[in-house]
Order: sequence, then structure tokens, then C-alpha cells
Amino acid sequence: MSQIFIPDATNFPATADLVIIGGGVIGAATAFYATRAGMRAIVVEKRAALGELTTSASLAAFRAQFAEPENIAMMQESIAVFENFAALTGADIGLHQQGYLFVTTAEDGYAKCKARVELQRANGLDDVELLTGDDARARFPYLAPEITAATFRQRDGWLSSHELTYGYARASAAQFFVDTPVIGFCRDGREAKIVGVVTPRGEIRAARVVICAGPYAAPLAQMAGVELELQNTRRHQLTLGKHSLIPRDAPMVVDLDTGAHWRPEGQGAVFGWSQPEPPSEPLEYVPTDWEFPARVLDGVARITPFWNDVIPHLKRADLGLVAGQYTETPDLNPLIGATQIEGLWLNCAYGGHGVMMSAAGARLFVDWLGGKISVAENSFRVDRDFRVGEKMVL
Ligand SMILES: Cc1cc2nc3c(=O)[nH]c(=O)nc-3n(C[C@H](O)[C@H](O)[C@H](O)COP(=O)(O)OP(=O)(O)OC[C@H]3O[C@@H](n4cnc5c(N)ncnc54)[C@H](O)[C@@H]3O)c2cc1C
Repeated sequence: MSQIFIPDATNFPATADLVIIGGGVIGAATAFYATRAGMRAIVVEKRAALGELTTSASLAAFRAQFAEPENIAMMQESIAVFENFAALTGADIGLHQQGYLFVTTAEDGYAKCKARVELQRANGLDDVELLTGDDARARFPYLAPEITAATFRQRDGWLSSHELTYGYARASAAQFFVDTPVIGFCRDGREAKIVGVVTPRGEIRAARVVICAGPYAAPLAQMAGVELELQNTRRHQLTLGKHSLIPRDAPMVVDLDTGAHWRPEGQGAVFGWSQPEPPSEPLEYVPTDWEFPARVLDGVARITPFWNDVIPHLKRADLGLVAGQYTETPDLNPLIGATQIEGLWLNCAYGGHGVMMSAAGARLFVDWLGGKISVAENSFRVDRDFRVGEKMVL
């Protein structure tokens, strides 16, 4: 059984096989897989609770509809874990498999969607439906007449990122030290080797330390002597509490042409859209921009015009706005594996996909740590060449 607590002098100095820095969804998932593999793990989280930074800003949606084989494989594995989560951990993560619907109004939209689906099928994802605009409107009558094509996958959907994080944590055998920031690294004599972490409460000695610190991954790695090419960029989530026009059985609807997206949440909805933003330092509290709600509502009204009937009646009190940071590598894939410094490992930089990829990413990290997989089997290793592709950022 895991323990989540504020440690005191009786717990320090502590030792473990693995220290995990950061108690977001990635740190919690890492603890789950590490302790299942027999490691003694301690998670060190600077906040008073788990999943309070980027994880809490997430729309908590998941999809296997990627274009890249490595991402499709990660997501097929993660979704299978989510589907089996209650049996695996005893936790109810509020799974909603209402699908992801990508739509386009492009003239050549059908050909583009067809090419996407063919690529997905070639990469082992054979349950994505290709729809004409008319087929899509017959299934989802609230779609705009301008939509020329769509792709849909029923097993995509969303969950509760809070329940997922605590589900991993509670089902792990790790200790979670909250209110305990890492402020330095223990080194082995004059060697560069990392052998633990320093906190204001004392040291925790471990042969392996992994950084799962979300936007703080790069400054922590730098403290250890490793430079990471990461960028943090602000992203918003808008919440609308309740409205009778919102179809509660709708899927996540994504504008393939712009990236604007929404999905139902209870009797309301949540919205997201990656807007151009300058990169910034990691932030404990990410300020919100109240121009975002109007922009994103206009954005989704283009593909689902019933929003035009909702917008004029909205009051600010109906809306909730939060922001967090995407932490991204140049190729927008995570960093999973060893650094050049012995004892220091990474499982971080998941951008907009940390909730959905948490299971497969943490499983991959733990297998890599245990020497169970070869270099060729880890597309996300830290020393890879970043191939900057054209990837849709949601
Ligand atoms: C608006 C928005 C929408 C999103 N929507 C989705 C989505 O629909 N689906 C999806 O899969 N992903 C989504 N994401 C991305 C997802 O939220 C992140 O990829 C994921 O939460 C990253 O988890 P993490 O554990 O790496 O980071 P975090 O949740 O940031 O956790 C890192 C933890 O490390 C702790 N920490 C930092 N420094 C230290 C230190 N020195 N000592 C101790 N602890 C430390 C922090 O306090 C924090 O708790 C979204 C993100 C945003 C911002």
C-alpha cells in the first residue's frame, strides 16, 4: 500500500531504489510501474498534494488517432490500461469512451482524411472510421454543413486526471513525500554520478533518480549538469458549467484545420486550442488571458454552429478558465530514459499528451531502467536525433 504524507525527522535520511521527482500524473504512473517491478520507490513532490500543477489543467482526453507509429503504439497500450484500470488498481477513473471526431472543411478534406486513416491502418490502428461530410452529419447532426470529411474512433475519449493520478499512486507500493521540494542532488564523491536528492528535510539516497517534474524538468536537469532542449508554452482550458444545447453524448470534436476542440463534461463542456504563445520560464501559477474564451468559442462555432446560439447568453460566471504549460521537445515527443550522468534519468516532456501517455510512458521507462528493452525499442530515448515533423498540436 502506498503512503502519501508530509515526512518529518523520523523519515530522514531516507533510502530507496528509485527517487521520483514530481508527483504529477507521470510521477505517479512511474511509481506504480516501478513498485510493480519490485523497486522501492519514493516520490518527492514540492506541493501539498499530487497532480496539482500541469495535470490539473488537463482536458484529460485520450486518443489513439495519431499519425506517427510510435505514438499510436503508446496510445493503444495506454488505452488498454485505462479500460482495465479498475481491475488493475481498484480506482474508478471516470472513463468516457465517447470517441474523438476530427472534422475538416477543406475542399480536399476527404482525400486528406483518407490518407490519415490509411497511414493509421498501416501502423496497426484499424478501428478509425473514415466519414464523408454527409455521413458525419448523419451521425453527429450538430456538425456544420461546410464539413467535407471526418475521422472517428469510438475507443478514444476522456477520463478524470485527478482520479488517474491518485489511482496510480494508491495502487503503487511507493511512499509519496509531499511538501518536500528537491533543492539539490547528492553526488558520489568527486564523480559526476548522482546518488540521491537533497530536500529541506534531508537527503534521500538512491542509486537512481528520475525527473518527472513537468515544466521544471529542464531547471532540475540543469542543476544536475544536464542541458535539455525543452520549451514551456502556456495553454488554456475553458470550462462551461451547464447548457441545455450541449449534446451530452457528443465525442471530443476537433477542427482538423485549426486545432480548436471541445467535448462535453457533465452537463457542460470543456474547450481547448493551442494558440501561438511565446515560450516562458516554468511557472507555479500560470496567468490566464480572458480573451481566450471568446476566441475558442468562435473557433468551435465554425465546426459546430450551435455554439452561436449559446455564446450571446453566456455570462462570465458561467465560465471557468485555467492555464498550464506544455513542456515540449523539438519533435514534440517525450524524453524517456537515461541521461549522460550516471544515476540520473528522465520521464518528462509529454507536451499535451502526458495524461493519455502516462501508462505506456511509465511502463516503457521502468522496462528501460530494468534493462528489459533495447535501444531500438525506445523511440523516446534522451539521446535521439530530434526529427522535427509536422505534427498537430492539440
Ligand atoms: C490546458 C492543457 C490541456 C491539456 N489537455 C490534455 C489532454 O487532454 N490530454 C493529455 O493527455 N494531456 C493534456 N495536457 C498535458 C498534460 O496535462 C501534461 O502532459 C501532464 O499533466 C504532465 O504531467 P507531469 O506529471 O509530467 O507534470 P506536472 O503535472 O506538471 O507534474 C510535475 C510535478 O513536479 C513537481 N515538481 C516540480 N519541481 C519539483 C521539485 N524541485 N521538487 C519536487 N517536486 C517538483 C510539481 O509540483 C508537479 O506536481 C494538457 C495540458 C494543458 C496545460
